[in-house]
Amino acid sequence: MQILVIGTGYVGLVAAAGFAEAGHRVLGIDNDAGKIAKIREGVSPIYEPGLDELLARHQASGSLAFSLDLSDGIAAADAAFICVGTPQSEDGSADLQYVLSVAGAIGSAMALRPLDAKPLVVVDKSTVPVGTAARVHAAIAAKTDRPFEVVSNPEFLREGCAIDDFIRPDRVVVGCRTDHAAAVMKGLYGKFLEASGGQWLRMDPPSAELTKYAANAMLALRISFINEIAGLCEKVGADVDFVKQGIGSDHRIGKFFLNPGPGFGGSCFPKDLQALLKVGRENAHPLRALEATVEANRHQKQVLALKVRAHYDCASGAPAPLAGRRFALWGLAFKAHTDDIREAMSMELIDSLASLGARVVVHDFEAMENVKAKLGDRVEYAADFMEACRGADALLIATEWPQYAAADLEKVGGLLKAKVMFDGRNLFRPEAMKAAGWTYHSIGRVTVS
Ligand code: NAD
Repeated sequence: MQILVIGTGYVGLVAAAGFAEAGHRVLGIDNDAGKIAKIREGVSPIYEPGLDELLARHQASGSLAFSLDLSDGIAAADAAFICVGTPQSEDGSADLQYVLSVAGAIGSAMALRPLDAKPLVVVDKSTVPVGTAARVHAAIAAKTDRPFEVVSNPEFLREGCAIDDFIRPDRVVVGCRTDHAAAVMKGLYGKFLEASGGQWLRMDPPSAELTKYAANAMLALRISFINEIAGLCEKVGADVDFVKQGIGSDHRIGKFFLNPGPGFGGSCFPKDLQALLKVGRENAHPLRALEATVEANRHQKQVLALKVRAHYDCASGAPAPLAGRRFALWGLAFKAHTDDIREAMSMELIDSLASLGARVVVHDFEAMENVKAKLGDRVEYAADFMEACRGADALLIATEWPQYAAADLEKVGGLLKAKVMFDGRNLFRPEAMKAAGWTYHSIGRVTVS
């Protein structure tokens, strides 16, 4: 099949490469000329394991190309995927201006399609509130009377393993009203589902749109839940690792997405939760469990900074115990295996420490450039993660990169002024840290020293 993928960010670029991998002919479109130039040179503008290789291979074979103009591919396209951003508006709702602007552009370009062409299947893959498929339909219909259909096909990939998630999906959710649209979507995803054994879930567009928000809300709720249990563990002398094992082994609960940490961030959960809360309010149906999830997370993002403050308040009794101190911070991305720092907890942590007069030396395997663009010289950038520790008062860990978990802690301790660690990702066991002479703060386990 021939498709257009409009928007070549984390979702669009992976979708474009993934569909090319399945044997389709794909034209990726973005209005960012710098991005398109980079991709054409074979350089991915984002870090995603395996993506560079797919982009190079399929651009070389001719099955994948990129352009600034969607008119280049619309005449022969079976489907056009909308993968542009839906950021949070001031009132919490999803800002649909990019989605609707692309819909308008598709409508204008429809005149280029042959009169006898089958209906173009316009697929909304961006995360959008219920009712958006109807709005996209209206925006296109305002510009053309050529045949088209709008499908809602939310994306569930995770940054860091996006290619694998895309080509081996657990399920493909397709909200559509006609068999033609369903057949085109099955033609596009069939190979993936055959290989993964994933489920094909056809439904109406509003249900598909709500499924995406409900999925993210459920996952966020699990994180906030285990974080709150972790906080209680610290108070009562329990160990969240054991509690997690105990509840996760119940098949009704399951063990996934129960890792306590420094609060969730990223480009999706925070904004999607706000958008869903807004939909609830608009429909006189407040989502109370979700409100609590958001509130718990707001608190959790401060947890590491609070632990640092408490440690040095106790230790020094001085009026400004963090002033002039230097901290090594391992991890900037909102999670491992990505360069994405949108809503990352590390940014709030840096703000808190800097506002108390501390200096922060940072390291990340992929997110350093993004942080440099955002924070400039407000922090120091270490050449490698060991170097970040040299002469620092303590080590803080915000992202669970596996290389950090494998670090030589004897060496790390030797570089720091004191063996003090604040581990937001529970990379180590407290008893082992105690035996090695560390003062070790983590999430949901007792502090040892
Ligand atoms: P992104 O910001 O990384 O990418 C969006 C791209 O769209 C950018 O490259 C931008 O230049 C381009 N764009 C904007 N307006 C355009 C236009 N008029 N024409 C052509 N290109 C245009 O966003 P993303 O992270 O890929 O997310 C896209 C959507 O997918 C969002 O709705 C998001 O919520 C959803 N989503 C994201 C993830 C994720 O992990 N990032 C996962 C599932 C769903």
